[in-house]
Amino acid sequence: MKPIASLSLDLDNKWAYMKTHGDAGWESLPSYLDVCVPRVLRFLRERDLQITFFIVGQDAALDKNAEAVGQISAAGHEIGNHSFRHEPWLHLYSKEELTEEFAKTEDALEKVTGQKPVGFRGPGYSLSPTVLEVLAQRNYEYDCSTLPTYIAPLARAYYFFKSPEMSPEEREKRKKLFGKFADGFQSLKPYRWQIGEKTLTEIPVTTLPLFKTPIHASYVIYLSTFSKLAARSYWRTALEMCKLTGTQLSLLLHPLDFLSGEDASELKFFPAMNLPVEKKLEFLSDILESFQNKFAVVNMQKHAREAAKQNLKVRRASNGAERAPLSKPPAVAGN
Ligand SMILES: [Zn+2]
Repeated sequence: MKPIASLSLDLDNKWAYMKTHGDAGWESLPSYLDVCVPRVLRFLRERDLQITFFIVGQDAALDKNAEAVGQISAAGHEIGNHSFRHEPWLHLYSKEELTEEFAKTEDALEKVTGQKPVGFRGPGYSLSPTVLEVLAQRNYEYDCSTLPTYIAPLARAYYFFKSPEMSPEEREKRKKLFGKFADGFQSLKPYRWQIGEKTLTEIPVTTLPLFKTPIHASYVIYLSTFSKLAARSYWRTALEMCKLTGTQLSLLLHPLDFLSGEDASELKFFPAMNLPVEKKLEFLSDILESFQNKFAVVNMQKHAREAAKQNLKVRRASNGAERAPLSKPPAVAGN
C-alpha cells in the first residue's frame, strides 16, 4: 500500500500578493480567481485529485468571487481557513483580533461553500501560541502553518530587495514574515499541539528532509527556469528522501503555479511568471504524476485524521510554545 500524503493550495489572490509586496492598488482587491480557479479545478479533475483549498475570508465575502469560490467546494474539495485579511503578521494579533478574524472568515466561507473549515494555514506561515489557542477554542482539527526551513532570511531578503519604497514600520512588520518559532528546528513529521485541555494536529508543510530547503511546487517550477533536468532530479530526490525517512509528504500549490505574467501583469516580477502557462502546467503535471505514483494523495483533513491515529509527539502551545522547539537540539535526519 502506498503511504499517505496530502496536497493543498493556498488561494492567495492578486491583491494579497500586492499587499505583502507593498504595492499600491491592492485596496480595491483585484482578483484573478475567475481565471485561475477553473484552470486549477480542471487540472485536478483530470488527475482525479481532491485537495484542500485554503481560502482568504475577504475573497469569499465579495460577490465578484462567489462563483469561483463556490465551484471549489462543488467539485468536492475541502475548504480551509487562510485568515480574513491575509496579513502575514498574525502573530502580532491579540486574542480578540484573532477571534474576530476567524469568525468573519468562517462566516464568509460557510456562506459561499457550505463548509465550515476545520483546518487553518496562516498567511506567510505566521503562527503564535495565541493563534493556536483561538483555533482550539473554535474546535479546529488541524493547523498546517509551519514551514520547517533554514532559508527564512533569504525569503525575507527577497521581499525587501524587491520593495524599495516600504516604510520602516512596514519593514518591521514584515521582518517576522517567515521563520517564526525557529522553524528550522521543527519537525517535518506531524505532531500534536496540547492547548489546555484541547489538542490540534500539526501537519507541517514538507521541506527536503535533512536540508530543509523548500520543495513546494512554486519552488520546483522556479528551479526549472534554470534547468529542467536539475529541477526534476531535485524533486525526485525529495520524493525518495521522504520515502526513506518516513516523512508524510504534504505538498503545497499556489495560484501562480497555474498563471503566467499574461494572466496577472501586476505580478510579472514574481519568480517563474515569465514562463508560459503551458510550460508550467506540463512541469506541474510531471511533478504530480510522480507524486501520485509514490503516495496515496488525499486532502489535509484526511491526512490530519490519519496522523491523529498515530502516537504523535506532543508539544505545548501555551506558556512558551516559541521556546519549546528551541530547547531541543536540531532534529535527526528527516525528523
Ligand atoms: Zn497565502
